[in-house]
Amino acid sequence: MSFLADRMARVRESPTLGMSKRASALKAAGRDIITLSHGEPDFDTPENVAAAGIQAIRDHRTRYTAVDGMPELKAAVACKFARDNGLTYAPDQIVIGSGAKLILYNAMVATINPGDEVIVPAPYWVSYPDMVALADGVTVTVPCGETTGFRMSPDQLAAAITPRTRMLIVNSPSNPTGAAYSAADLKAIAEVLVAHPEILIMTDEIYEHLVYDGFECASLAAVEPRLYDRTITVNGASKGYAMTGWRIGFAGGPREIMAAIGAIQSQNASSPSTISQIAAIEALDGPQDHIARHNVSFKARRDVAVDMLDRAAGLACHRPEGAFYVYPSCAGCIGKRTPAGETIATDEDFVGALLDAEGVAAVHGAAFGLSPYFRISYALDPSELAEALTRIQRFCASLA
Ligand code: PLP
Repeated sequence: MSFLADRMARVRESPTLGMSKRASALKAAGRDIITLSHGEPDFDTPENVAAAGIQAIRDHRTRYTAVDGMPELKAAVACKFARDNGLTYAPDQIVIGSGAKLILYNAMVATINPGDEVIVPAPYWVSYPDMVALADGVTVTVPCGETTGFRMSPDQLAAAITPRTRMLIVNSPSNPTGAAYSAADLKAIAEVLVAHPEILIMTDEIYEHLVYDGFECASLAAVEPRLYDRTITVNGASKGYAMTGWRIGFAGGPREIMAAIGAIQSQNASSPSTISQIAAIEALDGPQDHIARHNVSFKARRDVAVDMLDRAAGLACHRPEGAFYVYPSCAGCIGKRTPAGETIATDEDFVGALLDAEGVAAVHGAAFGLSPYFRISYALDPSELAEALTRIQRFCASLA
């Protein structure tokens, strides 16, 4: 007999964590494994930010804060939204949480009724559909392949809307593809949404600082002010400030919804780490020059990854605007056989055989809702990355 609640049937363990675990087990068994499934920058938290956290501990600033965040951090977040996104939020329109992930989840719990539909362009970040399911909603995916640069078109959005649609999630730049929407792309999407005042919009902009080739990110609520009153703009310190382990996320949006998120947070998390909040103030208010420095390195690695994957037999790799992921198609490998005699029927077979043959851990596209692709994170040492890409080329060449 199982003591698990019925809702657990609707939740999977994150497949990206699953792949990391499998790779770690092989590593522990002595295999030479290169992991390309990381979801975090490989840079250290900037020194000034780390120092602010250390100082907070020395100053004994170690007690609970206001549940929805310290007023000083809310002020820094308000400045950040104005400076980077052209968005004005008052303190009671801002919530600070223990990571953007918890804010996204609490926002869904606060706004989704059983059976409500949530439109999620695919490929999507693995957590969205499971969060929707935990909030008793229904995910409606919109497949967006590389022919549209992995972006959803306004027509695709219009076709996905039904009388049950409650929310749209937009993630730009995207995990897993790195694709980002320009202001013009968002304006076209906004035109569809303006005609549907019943739809709430959640934009996940956690990778906004990681963009290359002069690409400029835009926020939907700023691009189309008529959507401001029903858009939740989610962001955080994790990716742009190399602070994944500090667990600080934040959002701006309608007062009623922000208050509801705060109420849920008061019951399931309380205030985020005080030390981390103090460090996040320094991250947002302090020097921003590390972002450009990190991006030079990320862009170089993106280009090596795209070029080497594109040259691998049976792969085709789109060059994305941002984040630290690429999402190559392995359509040209499907139906081929490995030297061990296994047929590659799916992208899951592809990454499984790649791990077995060459010790390279990537994540299959089915985990992100769009096949046949796989995701590579290039946030690792450049020489290790080059070695992994060489192994992928060798693996692809070995398929018959
Ligand atoms: N949103 C996306 C698209 C992500 O990829 C991630 C982390 O991988 C998050 C949100 C969560 O970020 P945080 O570390 O702030 O919880």
